[in-house]
Amino acid sequence: MKSTPAEAAIRYATAMNTRPVNLLDHDEAGLRAFFASIGEQPFRAQQILKWVYHQGVMDFAAMTNLGVDLRRRLQELAVIEPPRVLREQVSLDGTTKWLMGLCDGGFGGGNAVETVFIPEPNRGTLCISSQVGCALNCSFCSTGAQGFSRNLTTGEIIGQVWQAARALGHERNGARRITNVVLMGMGEPLLNFDAVVPALSLLRDDLGYGLAAKRVTLSTAGLVPGIDRLRDTIDVALAVSLHAPDDALRETLVPLNRKYPIRELMRACADYVSDKHKRSVTFEYTLIDGVNDHPEQARALVKLLRRMPSKLNLIPFNPFPGTRYRCSPEARIREFQAIVMAGGLIATVRRTRGEDIDAACGQLVGQVLDRTRRSRMVRETGLTTIAGTLADGASR
Ligand code: SF4
Repeated sequence: MKSTPAEAAIRYATAMNTRPVNLLDHDEAGLRAFFASIGEQPFRAQQILKWVYHQGVMDFAAMTNLGVDLRRRLQELAVIEPPRVLREQVSLDGTTKWLMGLCDGGFGGGNAVETVFIPEPNRGTLCISSQVGCALNCSFCSTGAQGFSRNLTTGEIIGQVWQAARALGHERNGARRITNVVLMGMGEPLLNFDAVVPALSLLRDDLGYGLAAKRVTLSTAGLVPGIDRLRDTIDVALAVSLHAPDDALRETLVPLNRKYPIRELMRACADYVSDKHKRSVTFEYTLIDGVNDHPEQARALVKLLRRMPSKLNLIPFNPFPGTRYRCSPEARIREFQAIVMAGGLIATVRRTRGEDIDAACGQLVGQVLDRTRRSRMVRETGLTTIAGTLADGASR
């Protein structure tokens, strides 16, 4: 029988005795291919998934429904390797941030990303990263200012959830603490499509975290071909960083707009929601003092979004050292919200969470190894480069 490229690649890596396969890098289909490639029954994938994601077990020796020989083989061929928690900060309001070390620096001295858990009365949202840094350079985002280092692997993406779930444990009644996951941290997830989709699949799969489509949200700066591809690939909720009602302003905030202007973005969003009646898009709009918070901009936003099945998330700008922007005053935020709601949009203002740990937030990640040399360019243009933070990434 002819093998798929994934099977062939796994067989090659195994035969060449190269790096062991990190089983977190694979969704169910990938694990079935892995087991087939080593001559095992594909149903072993389901057993492994249950151990890893339901039981939180990563030691093959403890997987007692696998035969002794298979356990021994897995110890030779494979690993289950999530990022390592290097540091944890817990806010007075329960918001928890972790610095997750990635394996390329021996987990401690190299790249790292942040993961944030935000508890609310009826849900717990985990914000995860998809890249180290970001190449898109949005002008209001500290992650954007520091440049881009590399994509995360699937294992590094889903491994953030695994580590957070383990750190949080379960509530006394056995209920899950993580009820929602958003890819809204460092990075543009649609620029890391091939690693992100298996992670989304593990979040959705009953053998993984079993989350409903509306509880898994991918947030994008507006990569139109990626939105189209996502629509045809997997069912998750979509959030789009809009931040301006017109192209001229949006280009100054989200440079990607030069390539994919608002008209094309709206077409992609309309198509995303058109074939699944339960889908809607959340538009993120960071309110920046004197930049995008005028009443006429609120009215232009109504005109733009009124026919789209969507929600508008108004986010008070979260200042960071070196930024030229300020947060809109409270009264203007309320006025902006009132105008868009009067125009028929569903609009909420995101509450600020974890304020008492924000100060240290930018210090956690450290300097991203900037392969785009963006940090140097930013320094030369007078802006201070600081470490990217998930909170800032989340303020898209
Ligand atoms: S807002 Fe998002 S897409 Fe833009 S630079 Fe920051 S992390 Fe990247």
